[in-house]
Amino acid sequence: MLVVMSSYATEEEINQVLAAIQRHGYVAREIRGGERTAIGILQNRGPIDPAPFLLLPGVKECIPVSKPYKLVSREFDMVDTIIQLGDVAIGGDNFVLVAGPCAVESETQALTIAEAVKSQGASIFRGGAYKPRTSPYSFQGLGEEGLKILAKVRDETGLYIVTEALDHERCDLVEEYADIIQIGARNMQNFSLLNRAGEAKKPVLLKRGMAATIQEWLMAAEYIMAKGNPDVILCERGVRTFADHSRNTLDLSAIPVVKKETHLPIIVDPSHACGRRDQVIPMSRASVAAGAHGLMVEVHHEPEMALSDGPQALLPSQFTEMVEAILPILTDKQRARLLESRDQQAA
Ligand code: PEP
Ligand code: MN
Repeated sequence: MLVVMSSYATEEEINQVLAAIQRHGYVAREIRGGERTAIGILQNRGPIDPAPFLLLPGVKECIPVSKPYKLVSREFDMVDTIIQLGDVAIGGDNFVLVAGPCAVESETQALTIAEAVKSQGASIFRGGAYKPRTSPYSFQGLGEEGLKILAKVRDETGLYIVTEALDHERCDLVEEYADIIQIGARNMQNFSLLNRAGEAKKPVLLKRGMAATIQEWLMAAEYIMAKGNPDVILCERGVRTFADHSRNTLDLSAIPVVKKETHLPIIVDPSHACGRRDQVIPMSRASVAAGAHGLMVEVHHEPEMALSDGPQALLPSQFTEMVEAILPILTDKQRARLLESRDQQAA
């Protein structure tokens, strides 16, 4: 159950509720939101009677939560979370385009791709400075040098930056440079990293683990929110199946399910789902049609030279084609916004 405090509740009233929860033998977890404080009642074995808490001063309502995830659930917040980065809004009825290379390889590479995707209406630039690679002999990313290049991309283009934090230790550095901290599929249940991201003052893009159920994914998001970070963006990137005609299998049905279960935004990464550039445009169209709040797509101007994931990177001209292909599927408002930001770049 969640005890939601009124926005006028005093510290003393909050402390009284915490004490009352403990007196009843439960564990209380305080969650400070932007407008109000909620207190989760944890470790209850059965249903909780809200009566003793409802009557306490400062309490607005008690919400029974039937799901194992609480803060991420629709029961906690019926209104879609909208994450704002300057004038870029993620969630609700907004649509966001995130694009860039798999890995930051050089300043020239990053800036060339950033200019290309920006000209087509992308507002967030992606690129790994720390890469989770299957082989220890593969390119591992440029590290802090890559982060500095990303900062330069932001300075020169005005694009916001999303980049992966591979581990707890380097999360400080990523938080310092990035606008959004990415947690990759392989780390979706790295609980120490999730806890660290929960303490971050930046939004977190949480990829779905490659064999994770939606419940496990939402529980991972719950870790981040429970530590106090309300800004979590979910990213569907395909799951492992028996199919071998694509790198992973894009689980399109995750989009409506996630939108029903949680107020958090969900975007789709068709690049890692497909693993081949010829599948990326059709799957982008399908993701938009299924209601995704955005797309995250890998783009490279010289994919045959890419140090990682070249086969799935769209050429800049194909990224332009992709934008043209999704335009008719977007809502009128989303289309107008995307065209507006594209026109602004062209002007
Ligand atoms: C990435 O987006 O750079 C990445 C490594 O993706 P994933 O974690 O989904 O494999
Ligand atoms: Mn990649």
